[in-house]
Amino acid sequence: MTVRNSIHALAGEIVACRRALHENPQTAYEETFASQMIADKLTEWGIPFERGIAVTGIVATIEGERTGSGKTIGLRADMDALDILEKSGQDWSSKTPGKMHGCGHDGHTSMLLGAAKYLSNNRDFTGKVHLIFQPAEESGHGAEKMIAEGLFERFPMQAIYGMHNWPTLPKGVIALNPGPIMASSDTFELVFHGKGGHAAMPESTVDPLVLAAQFVTDVQALVSRCVDPVDAAVVSITNFNCGTGAKNVIADTAILTGSVRAFKPETRAMLERRIGDLAHALAGFHGAQAEYSYTKQCDPTINHADHAALCADVARKTAGEASVITNVLPCMAAEDFGSMLQKVPGCYIWMGQGEPDTPESPHNKGLHHPGYDFNDSIIPMGIEYWVRLVETALGDKSR
Ligand SMILES: [Zn+2]
Ligand SMILES: [Zn+2]
Repeated sequence: MTVRNSIHALAGEIVACRRALHENPQTAYEETFASQMIADKLTEWGIPFERGIAVTGIVATIEGERTGSGKTIGLRADMDALDILEKSGQDWSSKTPGKMHGCGHDGHTSMLLGAAKYLSNNRDFTGKVHLIFQPAEESGHGAEKMIAEGLFERFPMQAIYGMHNWPTLPKGVIALNPGPIMASSDTFELVFHGKGGHAAMPESTVDPLVLAAQFVTDVQALVSRCVDPVDAAVVSITNFNCGTGAKNVIADTAILTGSVRAFKPETRAMLERRIGDLAHALAGFHGAQAEYSYTKQCDPTINHADHAALCADVARKTAGEASVITNVLPCMAAEDFGSMLQKVPGCYIWMGQGEPDTPESPHNKGLHHPGYDFNDSIIPMGIEYWVRLVETALGDKSR
């Protein structure tokens, strides 16, 4: 690993920021503690910024000592927490029961702050960098809201970059790929309207439970039979509600919800259409009616190949040749940074934080696990990656 000493020297201050953020978690658009800390630090370091973009969002801007390139890039960190009761056992555990930084966004925000401090003191680049502190990644469409509030019009940029800590990769490893890395995430709700009645006389009812049960099994054929086997998609039924509580009554409705993941827009559109087709066809067969609503939550995160190549180069210089995976298999979870990549090209990477020699470490627990904690020991590497990325993308010989 090649982290410069002047970045290691920032670690104490940045780790303190991270732990303060961890102790004070807030969820979508309520991240006032993080937003104020960022504003205070940027003010202390003399870095100009604008706040109030998507409520608690902040965009800071640092200009290089040379401006000849005319180029601008964006670096993005998310800053929201989750509705989880923390069980990490760390000294800096959440002070708010039921809220927790269980995805490491406290670490992402802190590493971007570290990069801000370093870059403001070492402006060895040509052009401009916008540092984007985004709210509400987990559930509130924060990226989309920043875009809707003019992120890319107010702060034009030619490229944008993101990162996420990754507990299943060991610390010191950086992984990325030149295409889809995180899936789209959508939800749907189905209501089957049948006709209730006596359990002993099914012929006089339209049983929505049998219909809904058939739907749950048949819908899996969409993934296994209608999606290209080398593409990937997931349809999961997440709630199944039917029945009156009585053991001898057929209910009149069944309500299902589901989650849909895909990478390709055409696969996503096919699933949206055919889940509804299946529901209506099965309802018709049973003499029932289906009400179907589908909600697009999050676009897939698709890296742009030339930016992935640039990030791979930066990652190798940061982590060492042997510690960079450039063709990592994508994850079916979603990340709202995908909607930023739909507007501006760029690349999103995973930074390992696992501690393979300490199996019970909170840093090995999965994202969103109540025992998870961001690994402070990767902070210098995260800052180094951001700084090198700026120096490379905005270097005098940059691509
Ligand atoms: Zn998360
Ligand atoms: Zn996250």
